[in-house]
Amino acid sequence: MTAQLIDGKAIAAKIRAQVAEGVTALVSKTGVRPGLATVLVGDNPASHTYVRMKQKACAEAGIESFGFDLPADIAQEDLEIIVRDLNQRVDVHGILVQLPLPAHLDEQRILSLISLDKDVDGFHPINIGRLAMKGREPGFVAATPAGVIRLLDEMKVPLAGTNAVVLGRSNIVGMPVSLLLVRRDATVTICHSRTHDLPEVIRRADVLIAAVGRAQMVKADWLKRGAVVIDVGTNRIDDPSTKSGSRMVGDVDFEAAKEVAGMITPVPGGVGPMTIAMLLENTLTAATRLAN
Ligand code: NDP
Repeated sequence: MTAQLIDGKAIAAKIRAQVAEGVTALVSKTGVRPGLATVLVGDNPASHTYVRMKQKACAEAGIESFGFDLPADIAQEDLEIIVRDLNQRVDVHGILVQLPLPAHLDEQRILSLISLDKDVDGFHPINIGRLAMKGREPGFVAATPAGVIRLLDEMKVPLAGTNAVVLGRSNIVGMPVSLLLVRRDATVTICHSRTHDLPEVIRRADVLIAAVGRAQMVKADWLKRGAVVIDVGTNRIDDPSTKSGSRMVGDVDFEAAKEVAGMITPVPGGVGPMTIAMLLENTLTAATRLAN
């Protein structure tokens, strides 16, 4: 292996320990314990797992969590009432509505009802808009994109003036990561399903962020030697050699790519753990601001 491994697990553990210290300090100074409300609608097993992981991480950091498990057929008005109530509660500093919501619900409207002060997921349209504007600061940045940038910072990867390629343009990952990279003075190319000659575009990347959701799509010979590769993708593939018969892989062909890249994140153990760490950090930030 020639690439340096970016150990997201270790970096996330460090951030989580810092958040726990921050929570202790906030409680002793102000008596305020940060609280995160998790709003989960329906029975999507993956969403249930994510929410459980977030609640467990909250508990470990000393953050109170308030879980709202709601039926899949909840009416729009009833969900809106719950969000409005959470906006008013003094013991709730962050509100997380687990996405995706069932199709009959107006996701955009729900997200825009969350108080800007409590938008720890960073998906309020105003926070996204501020992210895109020069000279404006979003109150919160979504956890996965923020985690990607934190990994680059922790590894001391210079961004200003570099060619960064972002593979994917979703609201949740690709687009906000691209905006964050522009704010850090990278020259950013955003690729998507209609991009022509993807390998050629990716070969120009000093920094590649892959967030496409296609198992091992990015091949080693698409990479510039020494490129920094952040793999956001989480894809399950069959693997009869494992107990469960499957395993997680990223969007990058890791085994081959690590011989070409300068630095690379593994999947699992790269971006994944950062997402939760950044959510905890955002919740502590929200509580600190509201306590002051
Ligand atoms: P989306 O499906 O919302 O977006 C995928 C993007 O990839 C789209 O912009 C799409 O283009 C583009 N794309 C799809 N196929 C191709 C292709 N063949 N060539 C080029 N571009 C393509 O996914 P998300 O952004 O939500 O997630 C991306 C990955 O990141 C997933 O594997 C997901 O599981 C993972 N993820 C991981 C997280 C973590 O904590 N580690 C958190 C969030 C996501 P177009 O816009 O044209 O359709």
